[in-house]
Amino acid sequence: MTEPIDVSDITLEEIHKLLQDANRAKGLSTDKHYLSGKIFLQILGSGTRGSPSSLYVSTDHSKYLFNCGEGTQRLAHEHHLKLGKLEHVFFTTPTWKNMGGLPGMSLTIQDYGVQKINIHGPKGITQLFNATRKFVLLRDLNVNEATCNDEFKDSCMTIKYVNLIKKHNNDSTDDDSDTLIDDDDNDYYGHEYNLNGKRDGSYSNPPNKYLKFDNENLEIDKIRGCLIYICKLHNKPGGLDKNKLSKIFKIKPGPYCALLKAGYDIKIKEKCKNNDDINSTNYKYIKSSEVCDEDVPGPLFIVLEIPDEDYLDSLIENEILNEYQTNDVLKNQDNYIIHFTKENILINKKYREWMKKFTNNTQHIILNDKNNCYNYEALHRIQHQLTLLDSNIFPMIHDKNFDDDTTDDVLNKIFIDDGLSVYRAKTLNTVNLRPPDGIDSSFVVKIDKNADVKEVCNVDGFEESLEELKKNINNQLSSLKEQPEFPKLLVLGTGSCIPNKVRNTSGLLLRVDEDTSIVIDCGEGTIGQIIRFFGIKEADKVVLSIKAIYVSHLHADHHLGLLGILQERQRLTQEPVYLFAPKQIEPWLKFYHHKFEKIKLTYNLIPNQSLILGFKTIAQSTDDEIQKNLKIKDISTVEVEHCIHAFGVAFTLQDGQKIVYSGDTRPCTSLVELGKNCSLLIHEATMEDNLEFEAKKKMHSTISEAIKIGENMNSKFTLLTHFSQRYSKMPMLPDSSAGFNLSNVGIAFDNMQIKLSQLSLLPLFYPSLGMMFSEFCNMLEKKANQRLAKEQKKTKK
Ligand SMILES: [Zn+2]
Ligand SMILES: [Zn+2]
Repeated sequence: MTEPIDVSDITLEEIHKLLQDANRAKGLSTDKHYLSGKIFLQILGSGTRGSPSSLYVSTDHSKYLFNCGEGTQRLAHEHHLKLGKLEHVFFTTPTWKNMGGLPGMSLTIQDYGVQKINIHGPKGITQLFNATRKFVLLRDLNVNEATCNDEFKDSCMTIKYVNLIKKHNNDSTDDDSDTLIDDDDNDYYGHEYNLNGKRDGSYSNPPNKYLKFDNENLEIDKIRGCLIYICKLHNKPGGLDKNKLSKIFKIKPGPYCALLKAGYDIKIKEKCKNNDDINSTNYKYIKSSEVCDEDVPGPLFIVLEIPDEDYLDSLIENEILNEYQTNDVLKNQDNYIIHFTKENILINKKYREWMKKFTNNTQHIILNDKNNCYNYEALHRIQHQLTLLDSNIFPMIHDKNFDDDTTDDVLNKIFIDDGLSVYRAKTLNTVNLRPPDGIDSSFVVKIDKNADVKEVCNVDGFEESLEELKKNINNQLSSLKEQPEFPKLLVLGTGSCIPNKVRNTSGLLLRVDEDTSIVIDCGEGTIGQIIRFFGIKEADKVVLSIKAIYVSHLHADHHLGLLGILQERQRLTQEPVYLFAPKQIEPWLKFYHHKFEKIKLTYNLIPNQSLILGFKTIAQSTDDEIQKNLKIKDISTVEVEHCIHAFGVAFTLQDGQKIVYSGDTRPCTSLVELGKNCSLLIHEATMEDNLEFEAKKKMHSTISEAIKIGENMNSKFTLLTHFSQRYSKMPMLPDSSAGFNLSNVGIAFDNMQIKLSQLSLLPLFYPSLGMMFSEFCNMLEKKANQRLAKEQKKTKK
C-alpha cells in the first residue's frame, strides 16, 4: 500500500502528474484519462447475401470496425456512421469477404481527415494495401499493421488476441512456381498532374513509392489463420460520494477529489484548535475506498469467425477462451459473442458445445449470409419512384434474402433446443454496452413504398405527366416491330469515384441471351448489385451465365468488384471466365492468389492490348473460341484518353448489333472509329457542360461532349453514365436551346434493365424525371448559376 498523499499544500501540477501516473499504471495513455460515457456496438452490415458483414464499435473518442467487406463504405455513408475517428480495423480471417471493402473505405476515411489507421489481423494482412495502392490513391493515410501477439489496450478497452491454428494444414502446397514480379511501373493517377504540373490537393506520398511490392514482405508465403478478439471494456471507476466526504470527514470537496477518485488515499492537515499545541501537526486520513463507490465492471464482447472445421479443435482447446467460460465475474454482467461464422460451422455440434460453455447471460449475435433484413434504404426509395415510370425497366429490388421473417425461427431452433440465446443480426441493430441496455432495433432499416410513391405523386403535375408517359410508351411500343427479350442491358452502377446512396461505382451486365452474359466494368459491390437485383435464387443462374468480365482501366471504381464476382462464380462453377482487362492487372491477381485466396483458375486473362481494332494479336483459335462461347461476332478495343492503359470496347453480337462502351475518357477519335454506326454507345458523362475545365483536369467528358461523340459515330442510341457524385439523383442536362437532340439519348440509373430493342423508350422519361427530381434539379441549377456569377465577377476584376 502506498503512503497517503499529503494534499494540504498540493499544487494543481502535482495533482495532474499523480493522475497521469495512475493512468500509466493502468496501461492507459496519459493524455486520455477519461472513460467513454456511451459505448455501443452497431451492426453495420448483417451479412445478408449481397451485403457485407461488419461490426462497428462506437465510443465517445474512437471508433473501431470488425471486418469490412465490399459495400461497407456505402453502408457507412448511407447510414451516417462517423468514420472520422476510425483508428482501428480488425479482421477475423484474411478473406476477400472480410477485406474487400477496405481499399475503398480507406479512400473515404482519408477524406474525413484520418491520418493513421491500424490494421489488426493475421500476420501480413496489410500487404493487401501494398498491392492495391496503385489503384487506390492514398495520399497521407498511414497504414500500420498491429502485432497481434498478446493484447491491445487503449483508453476504452483491452483486446486479447487469440490466434487459432488449423488442424490439417492442407493448403500450404502451392502447385505453381510462378515468381511474383510486378513490372507495372505505371502511375494510374498521373494524368491528374496534367494541367499545371501538379496534382490536386497535397499528395505528399507520390504513388510511385508504392509501385513495387515490398520484397521483404513477399517472404511471408501465405497470409492465413484466424484471429479471435476478446474485448473487455475497462471498469468504470466508482463515483466519489461528496456527501460522505463532507458529512463524515467534514472537509469540503477540492481539487484533491480527483486523486481519491483515481484510487489514491490522502491526508490533509487539520486546523489547530488548541493554541498550546501550535508546533504539532494533526492529519486527517481519508481512504479512497471509504468515499468512492465500487468500480462498475466493464462488459465483455468476443468477435470470432471459424472458417472451417479444421479450426474447431483449436477453438475448443484454447485455454484463454476457456478461462472466460468459467469466469465467475462474467455471471454478473451481460456478455456478447459476435459470430461471423458461416452457418454450416455454426451448427456443428462441437461449435454449439463450445457456445454452451459460456454463462447463460451470454447473448450470441450471428452475422452471416443466412440473415434476412434490409440493408440499404435509398436505393429502394428511388426504385419505388422510378418503377412508376415503367415497372419492367425499373423492377423492384430484393434486398432481403426472403420475403418472410419466419426463417429466423426455423434456423434458430437448433440453438434454442440447446438452451442458447441467439440473435440474427439486422443491419443497424445496436447493442448498448455502456450504459448497458441490451439489443436495440429502433434504427433497423425499414422501407416504406407507399411513402416513397406519395412523395413524388405530391409533386404538382406529376400524375398528369405519368399518364402522358404511359400513352407515349404504348404508342412507341406498338410502332416497334420486334422486341426480343434478349439482348438486354442491366445497369449495375452509374456513379464515378466512390459509391453514393443511389449510384454504385461502374458496372453493366450485357445479357446476350438467357445463358450468356458479359460484365462490363465492376466497381466495388458489383456482385451485391447483381444479387439484389435478381434475388438470391435467380442470382445464381445469372452468375453462372457470366462468361466474360471486361475491365476498361485500372482505377478502383472500375475493377475493385472483380474478386467478388470471381469468388461468387467459383462457388458455383469451375469453368473459368474470360477476363478482358489491361494486362497490368495480372500482378495484382497473381499476388492475391499467392498471398490470400486461390483465384488463379477462375479466370482466363485476355489482355485488352491484344484486342486493338485492326491490330489484334490473339491467336485466331482463341478469338474463334471467344466468339463461340460469348455468342458474339467480334470484340475489339481501342486506347482512349484517360489514364495510361485505358480502353474503350465494342462487342458485335451475332445479329450484327454493335455495343460500344467508352470506359473513362475525354472525347476521343479512336472511340469514334471503333463505334462507327453502332446500335448503342454507352459513354461516360461525368460532368455537366459548364464544368468542362474539371472534366479536362480529370480526363473525363461532359454530357454534351458524350452526346457529340455519339453523333460523330452515328450511333443509333447513346446511353450516358458515370456521373460525378454531385449528380446523385439526376445529372444536369444541357440547355435545350444549345441545340442538342435528346431523342436518342438516355440517362442510366442503377438497377435499370432495358431490352436493346426498346432503347427508344428511354427519352420518353425526361418530362416525368424532371418533375420527379425537380427539387434536386433546381438545386443543381442554382449552384451552376452561383458558380457562373462568381466567375463573371472574377473576370471583371
Ligand atoms: Zn471512373
Ligand atoms: Zn478512371
